[in-house]
Amino acid sequence: MPSEIKRSVCPYDCPDSCGLLVEIENGRAIKVSGDPEHPFTRGILCGKMNHYERTVHSPRRLTEPLMRCGKKGSGEFRPISWSEAIEQITIRWRAIIGTFGPEAILPYSYAGTMGILQRNAGHPFFYRLGASLLERGICTPAKAAGWEAVMGKTPAPHPDEALHSDLIILWSTNAAATNLHFLQNVRQAKKRGAKVWMIDLYRNQTAAIADRSFYVRPGSDGALALGLMHLLVRDQLCDRSFLSAQVQGFNALEEQILPDYDPVVVSRITGLPEAAIEEMAQAYAAARAPFISVGGGVSRYTNGAMSVRSIVALPALVGAWAKKGGGCFVGTSTGAAFDMTRIERQDLLKSNPRTINMSRLGSALTELNDPPVKSLYIYHSNPAAVAPDQNRVLEGLAREDLFTVVHERFMTDSARYADMIFCCRRQPHLKPATSTVPTVITASSAPDL
Ligand code: SF4
Repeated sequence: MPSEIKRSVCPYDCPDSCGLLVEIENGRAIKVSGDPEHPFTRGILCGKMNHYERTVHSPRRLTEPLMRCGKKGSGEFRPISWSEAIEQITIRWRAIIGTFGPEAILPYSYAGTMGILQRNAGHPFFYRLGASLLERGICTPAKAAGWEAVMGKTPAPHPDEALHSDLIILWSTNAAATNLHFLQNVRQAKKRGAKVWMIDLYRNQTAAIADRSFYVRPGSDGALALGLMHLLVRDQLCDRSFLSAQVQGFNALEEQILPDYDPVVVSRITGLPEAAIEEMAQAYAAARAPFISVGGGVSRYTNGAMSVRSIVALPALVGAWAKKGGGCFVGTSTGAAFDMTRIERQDLLKSNPRTINMSRLGSALTELNDPPVKSLYIYHSNPAAVAPDQNRVLEGLAREDLFTVVHERFMTDSARYADMIFCCRRQPHLKPATSTVPTVITASSAPDL
């Protein structure tokens, strides 16, 4: 049977949503490549998705449910049937709910897949169960809050806007590693004469495309933005007509905040020389249409939302929004385009369960009472590797009285701590002729990802 090409899209946690061409032969994906007709990603995939067929058919894939048969965290498992796995979970959860109530069960999930349906498919079940709610706040909410504090619900500009800019600022975004396709825009704009700056903590791959690099201390990005605004005001470089016609709250910012951020103070906070800060403000004001692309790093501090808010406020001072190619980009999300209530089914929530912040998983597992977390169901995430306060997270995962179920494709750090592992089941016709997954998977026999 001749092979056929199917279109798909990358579901990974990434701003680009690359178009994929999947070549199928006898019901088996044999090649994954970029779709050249996809308008933004233009056939170029990053290393995570290029040849994804090797991941799909990897002999390291978990292909059947597994049950712990060794010490917690030892990574020793034995295969069990689906019906036994489901029965075991039912027995354990019934006992937990009977003694502690459904809030003693905590679902933990995030962005393993960003498919709108797959990512949220667990919500209806756990709402119906009355389990503890999870605040999915580990990553983007601070950045979104910073944007919304200035722009409200205004969607981000199209990243192609940067093609028309004469000064592109890559702020806290290692675009060469994390924003491959936007970097193509940056290169095109550069060919047309645009200057490129990067502002970051350290020199990374993106420095190769930047005309100027400015390295600031961790958590000081907001102070730099306020310092630039201070200089725009001091040197009368603001677009006053844009500010009076389009901007609310500028007077309070000008009178109450900006006086505290003169170059001496900002130099002390950021580590940048005063002369560099002065030069940046002059060049930013002189640019015809400056465009700032803000990455995620800046929002990962306790002052993250305020830092993003300060950066996002900058274009208004020079009226950049009114100029083709000017403005600021923190990310596009199409989530608001869909009616999520039909997927998440909050209507199934019949009680008012407590909410646990996913960033505080360590303390939730080791400190919470009334009720304690007695069962954890992990999907789309690997908290043993990514959740903050890792030592407490591992301490919690090692609790013998915690019944942990992990839904995974591979033996991750979190899966090693599971009592039960659910795998993503292959379609029967996609199953390889022979499986190289050992009968009992142990920490040593389970290969690293
Ligand atoms: S750049 Fe990589 S991770 Fe991002 S959407 Fe494209 S293939 Fe997926």
